[in-house]
Amino acid sequence: STRIVLASRPTGAPTAENFRTETADLPEVGDGQVLLKVLYLSLDPYMRGRMSDAESYAEPVAVDGVMCGGTVAEVVESRSDALPVGSVVLSYSGWQTHEVVDASSVRRLDPDRAPISTAVGVLGMPGFTAYAGMTVIGQPKEGETVVVAAASGPVGSAVGQFAKIKGARAVGIAGGPEKCAYLIDELGFDAAVDHRADDFREQLAAATPDGIDVYFENVGGAVARAVLPRLNLYARVPVCGLIAQYNDTQAPEGPDRLPGFFTRVLTKSLTVRGFIQSEFVGEHYKNFQREVSEWIADGRFRYREDVVEGLENAPDAFFGLLEGRNFGKLVVKVADR
Ligand code: NDP
Repeated sequence: STRIVLASRPTGAPTAENFRTETADLPEVGDGQVLLKVLYLSLDPYMRGRMSDAESYAEPVAVDGVMCGGTVAEVVESRSDALPVGSVVLSYSGWQTHEVVDASSVRRLDPDRAPISTAVGVLGMPGFTAYAGMTVIGQPKEGETVVVAAASGPVGSAVGQFAKIKGARAVGIAGGPEKCAYLIDELGFDAAVDHRADDFREQLAAATPDGIDVYFENVGGAVARAVLPRLNLYARVPVCGLIAQYNDTQAPEGPDRLPGFFTRVLTKSLTVRGFIQSEFVGEHYKNFQREVSEWIADGRFRYREDVVEGLENAPDAFFGLLEGRNFGKLVVKVADR
């Protein structure tokens, strides 16, 4: 098996030196176990957090340990009746080509139902993050304005389309004209705002003439600072991710913005609620799968994948994710089925 391990912990933006490629022997396939061949590896922003040993909601990857990650894999050897050879499963094999696992630790996928890569995308963790964050916290109502950044990615694109289905106005923030055009032309957002443009704040004001009722927080940083003054009374802010800040090594220069932030929370009666998607799985996952599958089938929900070929290209693709080089759900195609 070929695998990419965490060679060292990054300071600031991760680099190639933080990773190392190794080959390793696989253990025997035991009773109740299967040998998996990884087909797709999902690359996600949270992996930056796992590279660091700062306090977090999950344990970091150990130095010299295999980088973690959701995967779609094929069973190529089996000692489990439940998973015959040829089964396709959702596993958490990480950045490697093969893994021996207990059959009970993976979930079998139906390859006839949807393209298998969607199990780590629109019909998997990122799609669910959007669905749960909007259902439980965002709660968009007809005629309200929903704003989301990283809007062409798997979470943001699902947030905007969810808003539209609920009758709200969807405003997406993305980096560059190509992504902005995609939001409107392909995903049906009502407006798109380029956060890299010099007149970003003016664009945002023009796109949200009635203020903002739901700000689905994916990025933090300068985008959040521009959004905050536009939040309406009783606005909801599901705090999902802060990707603009993941590589920061210290607090930004400038005035302390915390008092101003809390003044807004108080005077506008805001609901600011952080969440990790896993807390909602028990209650909402089944509905998510059913509803989003229906919306995809009837054409109300679209998704885009950015497929990178070859495990060896995972580190570079991951750096691109943190900089906005990806366009759509980033997956690495590790092997053919
Ligand atoms: P994306 O595929 O959307 O990739 C991240 C995108 O973030 C980039 O493509 C880029 O898009 C944008 N971005 C990067 N840096 C900045 C910046 N400085 N300012 C503004 N935008 C920036 O990722 P996902 O859809 O997978 O994830 C979106 C967010 O959701 C992340 O913050 C992630 O951590 C979070 N998340 C949280 C979960 C939870 O349980 N709480 C679960 C899953 C994801 P662009 O070119 O448009 O700027």
